[in-house]
Amino acid sequence: MALPRVAQLLLEGQPGTTLTVAGWVRTRRDNPAFSFIELNDGSCLSNLQIVVDASVPGYAETIKLATTGASVRIEGELKACPAGAKQRVELHAKSLEVLGVADAKTYPLQKKGHSWEFLRGIAHLRPRTNTFGAMARVRNTVSYSIHRFFQERGFVYVHTPIITTSDCEGAGEMFQVTTLDLERLAKSTPASNAAPLVDYTQDFFGKKAHLTVSGQLEGETYATAVGPIYTFGPTFRAENSNTTRHLAEFWMIEPEMPFYELDDNMQLAEEFIKTIVRDVLRERAEDMAFFNDRIDKTILATLQNILDHDFKRVSYTEAVDILTTCGQKFEYPVEWGINLQAEHERYLTEKHFQQPIIVYNYPRTLKPFYMKCNDDGKTVRAMDVLVPGVGEIIGGSQREDELDTLLSRMQECHLNPDDYWWYVDLRRYGSVPHAGFGLGLERMILLLTGMQNIRDVIPYPRFPGSAEF
Ligand code: ATP
Ligand code: MG
Repeated sequence: MALPRVAQLLLEGQPGTTLTVAGWVRTRRDNPAFSFIELNDGSCLSNLQIVVDASVPGYAETIKLATTGASVRIEGELKACPAGAKQRVELHAKSLEVLGVADAKTYPLQKKGHSWEFLRGIAHLRPRTNTFGAMARVRNTVSYSIHRFFQERGFVYVHTPIITTSDCEGAGEMFQVTTLDLERLAKSTPASNAAPLVDYTQDFFGKKAHLTVSGQLEGETYATAVGPIYTFGPTFRAENSNTTRHLAEFWMIEPEMPFYELDDNMQLAEEFIKTIVRDVLRERAEDMAFFNDRIDKTILATLQNILDHDFKRVSYTEAVDILTTCGQKFEYPVEWGINLQAEHERYLTEKHFQQPIIVYNYPRTLKPFYMKCNDDGKTVRAMDVLVPGVGEIIGGSQREDELDTLLSRMQECHLNPDDYWWYVDLRRYGSVPHAGFGLGLERMILLLTGMQNIRDVIPYPRFPGSAEF
């Protein structure tokens, strides 16, 4: 039978009720005649205080096993706390059962105050800390909010493939998927062999395959059939960037909307971000107060500021003008045509505008083949949403819907249209203007929590050199 959860008891538990709770001991304090156990069951940040009187059956033997990290089940009576206490109710135990001990000599979370790096090394236990418990609950609320946002607007959730034979971003940062025996191949290849080493027709799919870097291209095929769609799934990028904003495996949400142009796309992206922020502030108030208190003292103010202002829209050209005339020294010098670096993005959103901005109309040379070309011949209808503390959180565009332009852009990007024949078909049969974007879930969690490293906002981070657990 499902047990009542601590979150619910603290909020609405009725004094006088007898019930059973279970969870993990956070701390225990002993007095001669009774003990206090702070019980956490993960349903909220707060612990339920349990009073275990020395008269509880088996007290003497059992209580000493109820150390930090041990799992316990307790039956007792809920009683009102004295006025002025931290909480409304506490549980007075009638029985105490230790389900699983946690040896105080070896339990890694016996003490508080571990470094982020140490906690990454015990990713299987860190969800039992306040920060990672809160992170998990916020991630969950964000995920639910995202589905609700799109479902309420009639978007269809589409499951795009994880294994793919096309490289959406054309950036070549993909993990290969193969059933070929690499060790045997390595042994059978003469050292000086210049001929092709691998016969991919012998591979599982009969050709080279990878893990997806984006579900967008497949998403477009459904958006031009069933109307607005979204994807929400794992995404893989083998970029060897050891930054605090990149993971090798992350979760991306990609809506794609037929009959949307760039402005509509920006409008939706802004509404989307604001809705997530609003939902999390409302539904995870306790966890958010914790992040504000313990991780970043400006986070609630930053989020309120996001809700209170329209996202400023700035063309790439204007952004470059600002960056070149602001007098700020950057590590990477700025001129029209460069890829904006994190330092530039953050200067714009944090210092100059001090609010989220949407930069649009990027040079076509910087962006993938599928973005719609502007009439100026120089720019494409791309848009990046930049937010304080993070930089780029969303990348999107209106898509090229004209067959000839798409084909010539593919040529420009050294792509073979035959490899994308099905994608090109969408421009042959009933092509429509359409647009979409991708939000990185972990970047959104960074924005919400004020956490500094993307490796600490996903349960099991994958990054260069690291895939333990
Ligand atoms: P960046 O320039 O920061 O590497 P990008 O331009 O490669 O980002 P897009 O291809 O536009 O990113 O992907 C859409 C969104 O996915 C980004 O705005 C970001 O939120 C997220 N994202 C991209 N790469 C990563 C990554 N390696 N780890 C986590 N999130 C990512
Ligand atoms: Mg990237």
